[in-house]
Amino acid sequence: MVYLTPMPGFDAFFEDELERIRAAGRWRELRRIEGPVDTWVTIDGARVLALCSNNYLGLANHPALAAAAARAAETYGVGAGASRLISGSLAIHRDLEERLARFKHTEAAVLFPTGYHANVGAITTLVGRGDAVFSDQLNHASIIDGCRLSGAEVHIYPHADAAALDDLLARTRGRRRLIVTDSVFSMDGDRAPLGEICAIATARAAMVMIDEAHATGVDGPNGAGLVAALGLGDAVTVQMGTLGKALGAAGAFIAGSRALVDLLVNRARSFIYTTALPPPVVAAVAAALDVVEREPERRARLAAISATLRERLRALGFEIPPGEGPIIPVIAGTSERALAWSRGLLERGVFVQAIRPPTVPDGTARLRVTLMATHTDEDLAHAVGAFAALRERL
Ligand SMILES: *Cc1c(COP(=O)(O)O)cnc(C)c1O
Repeated sequence: MVYLTPMPGFDAFFEDELERIRAAGRWRELRRIEGPVDTWVTIDGARVLALCSNNYLGLANHPALAAAAARAAETYGVGAGASRLISGSLAIHRDLEERLARFKHTEAAVLFPTGYHANVGAITTLVGRGDAVFSDQLNHASIIDGCRLSGAEVHIYPHADAAALDDLLARTRGRRRLIVTDSVFSMDGDRAPLGEICAIATARAAMVMIDEAHATGVDGPNGAGLVAALGLGDAVTVQMGTLGKALGAAGAFIAGSRALVDLLVNRARSFIYTTALPPPVVAAVAAALDVVEREPERRARLAAISATLRERLRALGFEIPPGEGPIIPVIAGTSERALAWSRGLLERGVFVQAIRPPTVPDGTARLRVTLMATHTDEDLAHAVGAFAALRERL
């Protein structure tokens, strides 16, 4: 049977759903960004300052990464051709895993195709029916989905509230338990109280998993993350990091004990049933780690300009919650206001996305400003000028 046109009945149903999304101010659409990923990008023919990528160190189009990827494509090919457990586990995957384990000071590490896969795979491997998982209220969607899919009892604790977490643990003795949190929260840029969480986990004999998506490459010795910065490696069961943000490529990894990694290889469905990372991506990550080690000044610049921009936006009267680092939430409140701000900034040559519910809690729609180490002082001045003009119009 051949269907030449979509069945009209289903489109009517889709349109109904879309209308509900529009009415709630939650309509989203994809932009078309021309040319390379950089501090300035071209949208609808206009050059605009990009203040909303997670390419924190400016590595995504760094020549060393591009050259490594091109060489790997020529040497190994573009695709790995199979999942890791079939014929897709190449020497460069194994070499990168060993390097990531050294980077994190763990026994072992294993690659995943994305951070989303890593979180879902690790959580569903570690807990299941009859177990309990404890998750910060503002954790990333991939953690939320991993918790739901695991079948474990899910306990959401108030954001960064270690005392509330301890209370919940006190009431769920005698079962296998996993605490899971972002180290740096993706939409707020603030940090989890990792020292307290690890102390509670040790006292209560619970496993701890830390998602370092936004800290990898940015925080800690050589960019190894907040767990390393705080010397908590021995207290953390599972360390997750991503390779598509500060490290400029794509993919993710889990680092921990050899037994943990072997268990993931045997049980994590999002590792087993998916094609291995492409060789050019793997080679680009290795090149990124070289740059991160060689050029600590990128991290220092990122920290410095992040503090400066926070201060200048606050001085203009914008509401910016406490925090540090390159994720700067500028709270608008309603979705409509956040969208209007985003449009106003784009007209002035600054590209920042409005982040709205359900990505963030109701009433906290915002602009999520993010900086890159390669933003210049002139770029910052341009951004501040655009925000100042926005302020005058309010
Ligand atoms: C981006 C992100 C992920 C997902 O990583 P991808 O590699 O983009 O799939 C997971 N956790 C957090 C906290 C993130 O910000």
